[in-house]
Amino acid sequence: MEKEIKISEIKNAARESFEEVKGLQGGKNADYIPYLANIDSNLFGLSVTLLDGTCFNFGDTEYKFGIESVSKVPTAILAMIQHTPKGVLEKIGADATGLPFNSIFALLLENDHPSTPLVNAGAIAACSMVAPQGDSRDKWKAITENITELCGSAPELIDELYESETATNFNNHAIAWLLKNYNRIYDNVDMSLDLYTRQCSLGITCSQLAIMGATIANGGFNPVTKKQTFEKEIAPKITSMIASVGFYQHTGDWLYTSGIPAKTGVGGGVMGIMPGLFGIAAFAPPLDEAGNSVKAQAVIKSFMNKLDLGIFNGDKVKIIPD
Ligand code: GLN
Repeated sequence: MEKEIKISEIKNAARESFEEVKGLQGGKNADYIPYLANIDSNLFGLSVTLLDGTCFNFGDTEYKFGIESVSKVPTAILAMIQHTPKGVLEKIGADATGLPFNSIFALLLENDHPSTPLVNAGAIAACSMVAPQGDSRDKWKAITENITELCGSAPELIDELYESETATNFNNHAIAWLLKNYNRIYDNVDMSLDLYTRQCSLGITCSQLAIMGATIANGGFNPVTKKQTFEKEIAPKITSMIASVGFYQHTGDWLYTSGIPAKTGVGGGVMGIMPGLFGIAAFAPPLDEAGNSVKAQAVIKSFMNKLDLGIFNGDKVKIIPD
């Protein structure tokens, strides 16, 4: 079915969803990373970026929070830019694990394969793939410059978060060394883990994440900076990964109820991609038991349901001016 949605309808749906979900209780901040435990749990933001560059922002959309696992998306894109989508498929994989983000069991089950760059094992492997090999400074530059291109503005390292994660990431050390054992890490182990930890500790805003989502939804063309950031063929590849594993063991439930591929992080951020239409991001620190923001999930679902949108709906949707 052909379906037309006015820009004002999108703005109103976002505002109404934000107001509805604002008072929602439940969940608690991630506490396995000490810095995150202390973030104000009342922070809440919702941003939508359309493919003509229009941005709608409600609430705390300029607060810099830890990007955490959402950083796995831009670095997977970077690995695809540098090594092609096929190269990433061969070296890491594009499969769902159905298990928590930090699962060692998943790595053992997959017979030495990290499955996807969107869980910890695959993300550490993706950091190891980033060129130039062996050079931590230049690899870091490539990772942050890529995020800057996708968002249209630079992320900023939260030093305290980086120190906090570095002091407590024992499980990720185990994953990194298992990858080494299976020849699935492609650079120095400690360096690759450090790059992963550092990228998770980048501060990002809700509005930046919505622009990144819109850039992916727009085939790599950043609608705000008007720059092509990656080859169009990468967009469906990264979106399929997000659709299959963006919420880890709850990805099926998420896609079923929200209709939008999205990626979460334990900093409280969720970034959604509606191909050909918009990017959306929400942020609120309290998480459910799987490490996904309670309010961010609720507000994106409410927005999608209000507009009766979903990637599987089969509608030809056009966003039109008022
Ligand atoms: N840095 C966190 C970790 O590796 C990221 C996890 C997440 O956001 N799901 O544990």
